[in-house]
Amino acid sequence: MKKAEITLFGDPVLRETARPVRAFGKKLGILIGTIQFTLRSRPDGAALAAPQVAVSKRVTVIDYMDEYIEMINPEIVGASGTQSDVEGCLSLPGFLGTVKRAETVRVKFQDRAGREKTIERSGKMARCIQHEIDHLDGILFIDRMEDEFVVNSFDGRKLSVREMLNASPPEGLRSVRNGD
Ligand code: ZN
Repeated sequence: MKKAEITLFGDPVLRETARPVRAFGKKLGILIGTIQFTLRSRPDGAALAAPQVAVSKRVTVIDYMDEYIEMINPEIVGASGTQSDVEGCLSLPGFLGTVKRAETVRVKFQDRAGREKTIERSGKMARCIQHEIDHLDGILFIDRMEDEFVVNSFDGRKLSVREMLNASPPEGLRSVRNGD
């Protein structure tokens, strides 16, 4: 299995609306394998969506809180309550910000064989699922942030969200990409 490079903020693929999966064959299995392998190479990762390996398809792999779920064409069909917590993203390495999300979500999706499933999750897992489905719609957590600033956990530096959204890629990410 080949490990893919994780696309970083500033890459246009992260802003696209990903296309639905219609064929549940070998190609999908390879894509899922690539996402899974790439995610597992990152101890700090909880989940990874196909656009983060530069494939604009509605696929995400979640490996979080003792649960492994492959979601194809996921859709939130019910949401209730609210929660507010700190979030990060492998496509914005180091940056953290507070995001308001639904406390509980009901999600309909297909597995790699095309079988339909519906699950309901709350708390951190519900947050993770909402973050992932956002990726399939070209939305990043910084778009939903409540605070004005994101914090770079590498150096403690604060960066205004507005500044970040206007710069592509912003200073902080450039230095991560160059491995400084
Ligand atoms: Zn993310």
